[in-house]
Amino acid sequence: MSESAAVLLREAAAVAFAGEAYTIDTMILPNDFAAQWEDLGRDLTAAFAAVGSSGWYILGAEVKAFEADLAQFWGLGHAVGVASGLDAIEIGLRVLGCGPGDKVLTSPISAFATVLAILRMGALPVFADCDSQGLIDLDQAAEVLRRDEAIRFMVPVHLYGFSLDLERLRRLRERYGILMVEDCAQSIGARWGGSATGSAGQVAATSFYPTKNLGALGDGGALLMEDEALRDRARVLRDYGQTAKYRHEVIGFNSRLDELQAALLRRVLLPRVEGWTERRRTIADRYARGIVNSRMVLPAREGDCEPVWHLFPIRVHGKKELMSHMRDHGIVTAEHYPFALADQPAMTSTPYEAPLGLEVSRAFCASQVSLPIHPYLTDAQVDTVIAACNAWEG
Ligand SMILES: *Cc1c(COP(=O)(O)O)cnc(C)c1O
Repeated sequence: MSESAAVLLREAAAVAFAGEAYTIDTMILPNDFAAQWEDLGRDLTAAFAAVGSSGWYILGAEVKAFEADLAQFWGLGHAVGVASGLDAIEIGLRVLGCGPGDKVLTSPISAFATVLAILRMGALPVFADCDSQGLIDLDQAAEVLRRDEAIRFMVPVHLYGFSLDLERLRRLRERYGILMVEDCAQSIGARWGGSATGSAGQVAATSFYPTKNLGALGDGGALLMEDEALRDRARVLRDYGQTAKYRHEVIGFNSRLDELQAALLRRVLLPRVEGWTERRRTIADRYARGIVNSRMVLPAREGDCEPVWHLFPIRVHGKKELMSHMRDHGIVTAEHYPFALADQPAMTSTPYEAPLGLEVSRAFCASQVSLPIHPYLTDAQVDTVIAACNAWEG
C-alpha cells in the first residue's frame, strides 16, 4: 500500500478480504480512523463548530495559535502552516535560495513527495545510498558532498520516526556549507540526544497527512525554523507571494493551512501526540520482546536516537509470502517502500544522480515490511501480530 492510498484503505481492504475469514471490522489495520473518531469525534465536532461560527476560514486566529503551539511543542522558534508536507519541503528549499538547476542531496528511500518537492522546483536530486535501517547513509552523504562541490542543499529524511544522527548532520552542514531542509514528516517528537529532529538544519518540514503521528482530517503541513527572516519569506510564499494586500513581490503558491485543520490540530490532536507516542513506544517494545523468529530482522537504532515509531519496519526474505501469511491471520501489513525513489517510473524520464549507486536501497526495499503500529491498537491485537510473526516459517 502506498502512503497516498492509505485513507482509502478501508474500501480497498474490504474488497481484498471479500469472502475470507476476516471482515473489515475484525482485521488489524495499519491505521484505525474509526477508533480515532469514536474517541475524539465530539471534541473534533466542537472545534469544527468554533471555526464555523467564527466566520473566518483562511489565515486567522486558529492558524496563528496553532503555529505558536506547534513551535513550542517542537522546541523551535517559529512555525508556518502550509497546505501539505510536499509544499513544506518545496517552500523550505525556496526560502533557502534553492532554484532551478541546483543540486539537492537527499535520501534514497522515502515517500515520493520528498523527491517530488525537489523536482517540482526544477532542482536536480542527488541520492546517497541507505544504511542497514533504510535511512540515508551519512558516511556516503559526506563522500558525495566531498566529491561534488556544486551540491549546496540537502533534504535528509528522518524515516520511520527514527532520528538521523543530528550531530553528524550539523557537522556536514558546517563542513560543506550546505543549506538543509530536514524532512520531519514521520518524526514529530523524535530526538537525538535530547535535540528534536529539524534542529540540525535551517528549516524543518512536516506533514499532517492523516496517517502521520500528528495527522489532520485532511491535508496540511508546516515549516519550522529559528530564523525570523526565513519565517517571513515562508509566510509570503505560501500566500501568492504577497508582502502586503495586493502587492506580489515574488512568484508564490496557494499553500495555506486551513483554519479548520488548524483548529482540529491545536484544540484536539496536538495535545494527544505525547500520549500517542508513548503508546507507540509501548507497542514497539512489546514487538521487540515478543517477536522471536530468526527469519525476521527487527529495527534497531543505535546511539542517542529516541524514535517515535511512525512505522515498525522489519526485514525478511520472502516479503510477499510474509504479507500473505499475515493476511491469513487477519493482519494488514504494508511496504515502506516497495521501490527506491530513483526506481519509480516517473524518474525514468527525469534527470537525477546516484554517484555511489543504490545497491543497499534496492535490497532493503525488496525485504522491508511494516507491521501495524498505531495508538489505537489494543494489547490483544498486538499479541495477535506477535503470534502471527512467530508462527511464520518463511
Ligand atoms: C507524508 C510524507 C511527505 C509528504 O507529505 P504530504 O503532506 O502528504 O504532502 C513527505 N515526506 C515524508 C517522509 C512523508 O512521510
